[in-house]
Amino acid sequence: MDSTREEMSLDVLYVGGGPANMAGAIHLMRLAKEKGMDIEVGLIEKGDEIGAHSLSGAILDPIALAELIPDYGSRECPIEFSQCQDTFYFLTATRQYKVPFVPKFLHNDGCHIISLSKFTRWLGDIAENEGVNIFPGFAGTDVLYDTDSGSVKGVGTGDKGVDAEGKQKPNFEPGIDLTARVTVFGEGSKGSLIRKIGRKKNIFPHEAPQTFETAIKEVIELPKENRVLESETTVIHTFGYPLGMNTKGGAFLYRMTGNRISLGLVIGLDYEAPMLEPYSAFIQLKKHPLIAEIIAGGKVLQQGAKTLNTGGYYTMPTVAIGGALFVGDSASMLNAQRLKGIHTAMKSGMLAAETIIDAFEKDDFSNHSLSGYRTRIEKSWIHEEQYRSRNFSQALSKKGPAKWLHLGAQFFSNGTGAVDPMATHADHSAMKPVGSVPPDWPDESDRKEGDAFDGNLYVDKLTGVFLSGTTHIEDQPCHLIVQDLDLCRTRCFREYRNPCTRFCPAQVYEIVADESGNRKLKLNPSNCLHCKTCEIKDPYQNITWNCPEGGGGPKYTIT
Ligand code: SF4
Repeated sequence: MDSTREEMSLDVLYVGGGPANMAGAIHLMRLAKEKGMDIEVGLIEKGDEIGAHSLSGAILDPIALAELIPDYGSRECPIEFSQCQDTFYFLTATRQYKVPFVPKFLHNDGCHIISLSKFTRWLGDIAENEGVNIFPGFAGTDVLYDTDSGSVKGVGTGDKGVDAEGKQKPNFEPGIDLTARVTVFGEGSKGSLIRKIGRKKNIFPHEAPQTFETAIKEVIELPKENRVLESETTVIHTFGYPLGMNTKGGAFLYRMTGNRISLGLVIGLDYEAPMLEPYSAFIQLKKHPLIAEIIAGGKVLQQGAKTLNTGGYYTMPTVAIGGALFVGDSASMLNAQRLKGIHTAMKSGMLAAETIIDAFEKDDFSNHSLSGYRTRIEKSWIHEEQYRSRNFSQALSKKGPAKWLHLGAQFFSNGTGAVDPMATHADHSAMKPVGSVPPDWPDESDRKEGDAFDGNLYVDKLTGVFLSGTTHIEDQPCHLIVQDLDLCRTRCFREYRNPCTRFCPAQVYEIVADESGNRKLKLNPSNCLHCKTCEIKDPYQNITWNCPEGGGGPKYTIT
């Protein structure tokens, strides 16, 4: 079978079909038209359609959207609610306390509640109309470099039709080498290609590793008579239970159209307790009296999980190298203080587009030429937001009174706080061995309660995977590489009781008995939601997440 890879040449290649790249591609096409430039632009997306892998809260600050599409309100932009009325609660296991004072940065005045998957699809249609060639179902698996200059010159997509043993199946299709003058990486959180570039080009700051949170989210349909649907409140945020005060994170509940709400729990991946199970914590949240009353009689329509890149300003990588730019979550653009990243992602894509136009005018795609992107970021409102919140996530990671002292000091000093910069630590290094952390989590009786599922409103992990629409071709090479399986059987069990079986929200990792009755790790890669939690949180960094065959993964439609 012919396995020769074809090459396709473009002027600009976008990798990833999220809001950063969509906004960037639309802006680029319009700027090129204004300048009379004829630029061939392509965009690849690993999901089987645009929006299929887009999951978010999501509250959109429309600042970037209004810059990009000023008349978005009359262009059928899929907005669920235009008025955000916020309420904050502190939760204990049985009670809730309304927070009387909510800092200004947490207000959502003027923001819109959206479904990110619908919103991204809408942007995709506009991008296509502007002339962007969109290729869904194509996963970038390799970065291509110019052998002389060392600059990035594109991306190779993965072969299709390869079996689990690596042999070609009858439907084999070789991947394509997509070359471009400039490649924009908007892979989202913990991208597999930026990881490769990071190793080769050293673009991540060693002193400030990126840090992440995992979000588990559902869209729930409620009965028509419901007190949330009848009230003015459209946004609820909570902190405290079920995570306690020493684990970073909290919950959100947003009202959507059609008797639906979006409910999620975000958990900082620098948690210490190896027995913590984010999915169980999410179910516990749903069973808290405040939430349980709101969602009573409801039905889960869709579920999903993803990681957010929350380290912020000091964890930003080098955002431009020869032939390549990094946008959105790939470049740590999320503002953890405001719990928002779509607006900064879109703006970063737009600034990247302006830099690319400059580069075409100069016919120079070198590191020096593209570094104007960083300058643009520094001069934009992204920088103002990022800089003001530069130590926020780090302060939240502190325990006890230190957390509140740092947060208070930052509040009164416009972000500088008591220590600037505050240190960040790689999330995987935070986990403590079994028995060495107080049982902040889990209380075993709570877990049993949390694990009671009804298949309708309280669904188990596998039902959640089903409700995410996740599918993969079963007979393909495993996209999760566990380097040392012996480690899982021995040291990891002893020290951490195989936390992968808990931190993965999709039951991809299981410990089973082999023929001799010994422990062994069993993988169910077809369940994978592409959240990347495993690569981030594995305490030994023994797991590598690679892109599976294009088109696999979740099929989010309303998240
Ligand atoms: Fe997320 Fe990893 Fe589990 Fe896939 S295998 S769902 S990336 S934690």
